[in-house]
Amino acid sequence: MLYKRSSQLFAEAEKVIPGGVNSPVRAFKAVGGTPIFVKSAKGAYLYDEDGNRLIDYINSWGPMILGHAYEPVVQAVIEKAKLGTSFGMPTELETQIAALAVSMVPNIDKIRFVNSGTEACMSAVRLARGFTKRDKIIKFAGCYHGHSDSFLIQAGSGAITFGSPNSPGVTAGTAKDTLLAKYNDLENVATLIEANKNEIAAIIVEPVAGNMGCIPPSKGFLEGLRQLCTDNGILLIFDEVMTGFRLARGGVQELFNITADIVCFGKVIGGGLPVGAFAAREEIMNYLAPLGPVYQAGTLSGNPLAMAAGLAMLQALDTDRAIFQRLEEKTAYLAAGIDKVLKANSVTFTINSIGSMISVHFDAAPVVDFQTAANGDNETFKKFFHGLLQEGIYIAPSAYETWFITDALTYEDLDFTIRAIDKVSKTF
Ligand SMILES: *Cc1c(COP(=O)(O)O)cnc(C)c1O
Repeated sequence: MLYKRSSQLFAEAEKVIPGGVNSPVRAFKAVGGTPIFVKSAKGAYLYDEDGNRLIDYINSWGPMILGHAYEPVVQAVIEKAKLGTSFGMPTELETQIAALAVSMVPNIDKIRFVNSGTEACMSAVRLARGFTKRDKIIKFAGCYHGHSDSFLIQAGSGAITFGSPNSPGVTAGTAKDTLLAKYNDLENVATLIEANKNEIAAIIVEPVAGNMGCIPPSKGFLEGLRQLCTDNGILLIFDEVMTGFRLARGGVQELFNITADIVCFGKVIGGGLPVGAFAAREEIMNYLAPLGPVYQAGTLSGNPLAMAAGLAMLQALDTDRAIFQRLEEKTAYLAAGIDKVLKANSVTFTINSIGSMISVHFDAAPVVDFQTAANGDNETFKKFFHGLLQEGIYIAPSAYETWFITDALTYEDLDFTIRAIDKVSKTF
């Protein structure tokens, strides 16, 4: 396949947009080459500016769980747009989507809509700090919670020291309030809590990690976090920006039967429009302005187009109760197919998957945290990525990303993908 026009468009973009992209991972830095420019998408397929058709396993990094240009979402947006695109005043639509979300997700009474997952996580942490009157938070290495300052932190020297900024522009003052823990390592979390008694407001976690490949929680990890939080007056924040309305109707809380104190949403909840949200029981949510003292706001929050898209998406997921089962079956089919051909071609690999999330790691050891995810062979991944691109298959241009299975993918698409992986992995 040729990607000539994409290359030209990227050169033009680089002149006026830093790195040619509006979000870094789109730039192919980890794999080399130039990004593909999309012209349109429908169902399981992307159509690029060179006229290529690609089977899409990124799906806008998660939102398009029912495939691209899903008709009820598109229609809802078109109809709403005719009635005005933003008011900065309440609309009935906001109550409708809020009520539906609250009915689908366990343990939440109220929800506040924002414009991105970043905003949701940032606001959730402020709320947790206001509610507990404590400053520090614990996050896990390799978990992503958006790009607000408190989360751009790497491990400092020594296991129990403060975190340090991993981007210029994040102050040392901010970094010292974020403590870094190892995913799937309860003992590490307990040690951090012990060393910071009565200072920790919240533990924020991707309850199924999706930003270092797909890493499900090990047995007892989420239960252990819940217990540690309960015992120490800490709020447990589930960042379900990726997993919410994806792994189950009610997200990971439902899937593993664990109660979080605050839950963050994004991606699927907006049906492909810029939406995030955070939710909790009434006692916590009432701490937010205008009812309570914790400030949080947004000119375009609850935007009618975004709410119309999100409502149509949630209604579809609420109505079709078999959908998560179908997605899981497709993922399992793909995982089994990939496993078979990679083994046949003597490739060293590990496949992680759960529900509609799957990742292939080029390392034989179990991938359970950031360190083991980082052990994957990136040179093999690059060949894998570019080989699949030539076959008309689009996976994320980074070994640290999860692939998303959508309802629009057919078993023919999955078979095509498995055959392509067989072909490509023979060239490793
Ligand atoms: C994508 C993501 C975010 C950030 O959401 P944006 O809408 O990109 O700001 C936060 N947390 C998780 C778990 C994510 O996957």
